[in-house]
Parts: sequence; C-alpha cells; structure tokens
Amino acid sequence: MSLAALPKVELHLHLEGAAPADFVRGLAREKSVDLSGIFAPDGSYSYTDFWHFLHVYETATSVLKTPEDYARLTRAVLEESAAAGVIYSETFLSPDFCGGRDVGAWREYLTAIREAAEEAEARDGITLRGIVTCIRHFGPEKARETALCAAETAGDWLTGFGIAGDERAGEPGDFAWAFDCAREAGLRLTAHAGEWRGPESVAAALDALKVERIGHGVRAIEDPALVDRLAEDGVVLEVCPGSNVALGVYPDWRAHPIDRLRGAGCKVTVSTDDPPFFHTTMVREYDRLADAFGWDEDDFAAIARTSADAAFCDDTTRSRILERLAP
Ligand SMILES: [Zn+2]
Repeated sequence: MSLAALPKVELHLHLEGAAPADFVRGLAREKSVDLSGIFAPDGSYSYTDFWHFLHVYETATSVLKTPEDYARLTRAVLEESAAAGVIYSETFLSPDFCGGRDVGAWREYLTAIREAAEEAEARDGITLRGIVTCIRHFGPEKARETALCAAETAGDWLTGFGIAGDERAGEPGDFAWAFDCAREAGLRLTAHAGEWRGPESVAAALDALKVERIGHGVRAIEDPALVDRLAEDGVVLEVCPGSNVALGVYPDWRAHPIDRLRGAGCKVTVSTDDPPFFHTTMVREYDRLADAFGWDEDDFAAIARTSADAAFCDDTTRSRILERLAP
C-alpha cells in the first residue's frame, strides 16, 4: 500500500487555516472583497514570517461571514482531507470568528459546520469532530467568553477546548479560568505551546491548564527532563512538521525533532495545521517523514493508532476508527 492510500487520523487542523486559496478567492469575488494582497502570483497564500502569517490568516478568514460560508468551507476542507486518506479529523473552531463570541450566533455556525461534516461523512467516509480554541493574542477576557460558548455547546460533536494564536502573548496561567470552565463542561483539553517559545512554555501549559495534549510541543526536545515527563505521563504531541519547517522553527525536515521525540518514548502524532498556507497535505507530510527518517508503513500505522487513541471522540467512534486502521 502506498503512503497516499494509508488511512490517516489528523488531530490538529484549523478550519479557516485549511481553507483552499481558490475557495477563499472565489468567496472574496462573490462578496466583492479585495484580498489580492494576501496571494502570491501563483495563487497561493503569501506571507513573510509567523506574525505576518497570522495577519494573512485573519484577512483570509474575514471573507467567511455567515454559517453558510462555514458550511461551504467545511465541505471544501473535508474533500481535501478525504482525498489525502484522512478517515478521522479534529478541527479547531473559534467562536471569535464564528459569531463574535455570541452563544446564539455560535450555535448557528456550529450547526451549519456539523451538518456539512455529516454530509461529507456520508459521501467520503471521513468523520469530523470540533475543538473550540480561544485566541491567545485576543486576551484572557475574550477567552472567557469563548470558553462559555464552548461549554454551552459541549457534547458528542464539540468535544474539546484549546488555545491557539500568538504564543508570545500572555502566560498560560492567564487562561486558567477558560480552561477550568471548559473542563467542567466535559470538554477535553489541548494547548498550543513549545512552537515559538521554549520547553518552559510546554511545562507551563501542562501545569496551569492541565491539558492532555499539546499542539506542537516540539521544543520540549530542548529539555531532556521535560521529554521524560511527557513520555512518562503519556502527553500526546500534535506535531505538524511541515508547518514548523515552512515557518522556520526548524531549517529543514532532517533537523525536525519528531523522530527524536518518538525515539524517547513520547506519543507523537502527525498533522498539517494550516495545510494550504504551508503547501502541505497529510500525504506530503508522510512522504517527507519517510524521506527524512526512513519511516515506513508500519511506523505510520502505529502513529495513526496513537492518534485514534488520543482523539477527543467517544469510545464507539474510536472503536470504529481503530477498526478501519487495522491492517
Ligand atoms: Zn495550530
């Protein structure tokens, strides 16, 4: 079986960040919005560094205005994921972008996204679950409102809560209230850390927010004691190597620590983060990892099982996914 055909599980995907550039351009045309500044001559997204990327990301996202826009986005994204062999995916959603943190409006967006996901499941056999993220650089007050939206809509589809955005803004502890609120509502927890800040940011997310998964977390490699802690506690790392290389966290694939983290006993998974922004897909991630580290089908099958075990879905759904991963 080729790597392209292997069934895959993806845990770290931002819905707006997965918006194909053609889709965003088409929507901008329909709405007569000029977004030409965010595209390169070849039509792909264009940015200079991580902070400019955040700006381009938020500009692209600004054309997504209605629940129907998000339903169309969900269909476009899941079509791409299913084509890469993804059978189960978790996507980050932000009430900040969907209804401005108003619970009633957020419910309408969520219903539209969920219905589109169910259509894709019936058509392409791909299952989607949602994780609400607050946006770190929007500050703790907005994160509280975001957590309340998440808590109100927690259930069998909206299953997790997390934090994304500029890692340099504030400290994890500033967001503890939001995470406590989400935990009390039964949501499972993840946090972006250890991408732009060092290992101490990973430890701080674990200590202050009591998350079970870390988004990225790769810079934990700089602290051997922390690597031991992650391995012993079974903390799952949502690693997005293509994203890290595209944004310059590491100069190239060989320099990426995913293989060393895995070798040290950490639970690593593989995701694309914001695939069209980083010119990647799950197939491309697999191909590059195979080239860089000699990983073979057995390695990728093991990673997919680790991902399914770490998924924030109910156990019936998990069993169904694991069955489809069985050789
Ligand atoms: Zn991310």
